[in-house]
Amino acid sequence: MKTKGLKKDKVNVVTLGCSKNLVDSEVMMTQLKGNNIDVTHESDKDDSNIIIVNTCGFIDNAKQESIDTILRYVDAKEEGKIDKLYVTGCLSQRYKDDLEKEIPQVDAYFGTMELPLLLKKFKADYKHELVGERIITTANHFAYMKIAEGCDRPCSFCAIPLMRGKHVSRPIEELVKEAKNLARNGVKEILLIAQDSTYYGLDIYKKRNLAELLRHLSDVEGIEWIRLHYAFPTGFPEDILDVMAERNNICNYLDMPLQHGSTNMLKKMRRGTTREKQEALIERIRTKVPGIALRTTLIAGHPGETEEDFEQMMDFVRKTRFDRLGVFPYSHEENTHAYSFEDDVPEEVKQERTDTVMELQTAISQELNEAKIGKSFKVLVDRKEGGYFIGRTEHDSPEVDNEVLIDATKQYARIGDFVKVEITDATEFDLYGTIE
Ligand code: SF4
Repeated sequence: MKTKGLKKDKVNVVTLGCSKNLVDSEVMMTQLKGNNIDVTHESDKDDSNIIIVNTCGFIDNAKQESIDTILRYVDAKEEGKIDKLYVTGCLSQRYKDDLEKEIPQVDAYFGTMELPLLLKKFKADYKHELVGERIITTANHFAYMKIAEGCDRPCSFCAIPLMRGKHVSRPIEELVKEAKNLARNGVKEILLIAQDSTYYGLDIYKKRNLAELLRHLSDVEGIEWIRLHYAFPTGFPEDILDVMAERNNICNYLDMPLQHGSTNMLKKMRRGTTREKQEALIERIRTKVPGIALRTTLIAGHPGETEEDFEQMMDFVRKTRFDRLGVFPYSHEENTHAYSFEDDVPEEVKQERTDTVMELQTAISQELNEAKIGKSFKVLVDRKEGGYFIGRTEHDSPEVDNEVLIDATKQYARIGDFVKVEITDATEFDLYGTIE
């Protein structure tokens, strides 16, 4: 398809990586649309003549996926299918100079904080009046909300501060305005995200202020679920647990990446905590918010991890019985603190340890799910697929956690609605149920 003579530019934004990057794409799309530029997200129709790839630069696999995506659109440009190709996001922030040399066919590369510069390519201006407005690319009834950018933590393995800079909280007023706009547009569930959400407020309010933010957001009419992601164990603001316990529309759910269960490794990872402190915190969380679902993330194979350390991690997972858990093999990332260590755990051992933890967690998840049979839960219906209406309980976040499947040949549910479901069956990662 020759693009010459196309009446009006049309932009297709392609997002890679995490939910924080997705929010950046949504903000970018809102600004483009606010400047009367036609924009779509990950459209498979080839009616766009300008592509913006919002990349991820976190770990090797993610970097490779970003490069493959850029190259795919370089081909499309060389075949005359598109006119312009722009690249932004974490990979571009981290490797701009290399990328400009190695893939010069890209029209321009932008960093993670350079949206106004990108807009200039469209002769468009950054519209401050649009702050708090947002086109969402998720299902209409839930949306991610980024409460802060960047991170001040020194975790040994992590390149995010290199790409996202220092921690910057967004003011409560701005977030409340955004939540009201989202609720007005039909959003019922907001997922609070940041690099470290429990650091919220330390910069602009000189104190950990997540509890106050939660209270304000919980007061927003129409928001029925508020879900907290990316909590950090060290300096954990326990006053948020009181808000969780007192407010019905704050999910009994907490995502808190802990990374390891061996004190020796937590020290090497510069997490500022110990196995014992993590366990004591988890116990206090479970006491203050009974029935809370805990999600965590672990890394296997960090430099210096011994067989003994790994046994500690297994023991930690076995004893803690997390409701949800993700585990990843360590990735040796340039310019991180851990890059100065020898990457001494062989790749196959990293993968073996990752698989072994996941095997243990799968068995735990099966048991926890089976214990839900016969019980009833409030379920938010996300979509219809494969003969089922598929939804989630307050203990499940989109895309990463369990789902509830309702037989669509027997029962009907409207997408975006809450329904009461009795659980009738369970697998390791899904629940089956009937609407009461
Ligand atoms: S808290 Fe640690 S792991 Fe998370 S973004 Fe910050 S430095 Fe990275």
